[in-house]
Amino acid sequence: MNFKSRKVAIVGAGAVGSGFAFALAQSGIAEEIVLVDANTDLAKGQALDLAHGAPFYRTVSIYADTAPQAYRNAAIVVITAGKAQAGPSQSRLELMQINAKIVTSIATDIQMVNPEAIVLVATNPVDIVTHVARLRTQWPRGRILGSGTVLDSARFRWLLAEHCGVSPQNVHASILGEHGDSELAAWSLVHIGGLPMDHYCSVCRKCDFIHRRPQILEQVRRSAYHIIGYKGSTSFGVAMAMVQIVRAILRNERRVLTVSAPLAGEYGLNDVTLGIPCVVGANGIEEVIEAQLTPEENQELAQSAQVLKDSLALLETSPA
Ligand code: NAD
Repeated sequence: MNFKSRKVAIVGAGAVGSGFAFALAQSGIAEEIVLVDANTDLAKGQALDLAHGAPFYRTVSIYADTAPQAYRNAAIVVITAGKAQAGPSQSRLELMQINAKIVTSIATDIQMVNPEAIVLVATNPVDIVTHVARLRTQWPRGRILGSGTVLDSARFRWLLAEHCGVSPQNVHASILGEHGDSELAAWSLVHIGGLPMDHYCSVCRKCDFIHRRPQILEQVRRSAYHIIGYKGSTSFGVAMAMVQIVRAILRNERRVLTVSAPLAGEYGLNDVTLGIPCVVGANGIEEVIEAQLTPEENQELAQSAQVLKDSLALLETSPA
């Protein structure tokens, strides 16, 4: 698909939406950024604040508007609207009922005025709300995607880089499954400077890495809870992760990113949407990559999928 516009609409101008707008403006990849929020004053305030930096970043028009007209001609609509975790003790899954409703209603509005748009969802629980919104709107597969475990994979890469004393850019590593408590580390896919992790460890020999693995994965899983405990919300990391996804789409980069993708038989899984390596380009998810995981990793992925399916079943049986 060739985009006629490089307009990005952002729904939800709270911590995540405004952080993303800020990062997107700095990136220079959009030519128009429109902010929408149920709290119209918040959207107006954030847009003005951002627009005042115009002399300092590459030309981009930033303004606030109301739905659904704001979605017209947007190449991508990014949904960050909804409830956030109230504190470190609240899980993402607890948000599902209300946020599935909000995201589906926004997706329906987008469909009315701009069915060609690609929709990127960040609202939590991101795998569930992306899945439900796609089914309820019949949005074409791949053209509505969630931010998935792109942020979690970045956290994983950073932790591995800190541990090994190398640049995070030289660490290729993925967190798969639910963006949440059941996510797993694909240890068999970790590469450092092009070397498979085990090979790298045998050359490095500075530590007994195998014993550090569970701790590193737990740190990834608990990251959001820690940050929310300290400052009330997470915003910068997810904002930067979403810029990577939006850039891959607007520039048709075909980057491999662990976005939330609906599975149709890949990894032996069906009827579930979760973080998995995908080629991301102009059409959103261009391909789901079936990586060769170990039997243990496949089992953990199936368990994470089951957690999501159980939640989806709860959502379907509870009153709307
Ligand atoms: P926030 O409360 O700061 O902002 C949410 C905004 O959504 C509010 O301004 C609210 O007015 C708006 N809103 C609610 N319903 C709306 C609607 N129907 N239409 C338009 N606007 C509406 O919350 P936040 O910290 O920005 O978090 C937003 C979401 O992002 C949460 O669900 C949070 O859990 C999620 N999140 C996802 C990731 C990720 O990696 N996917 C990371 C961090 C946060």
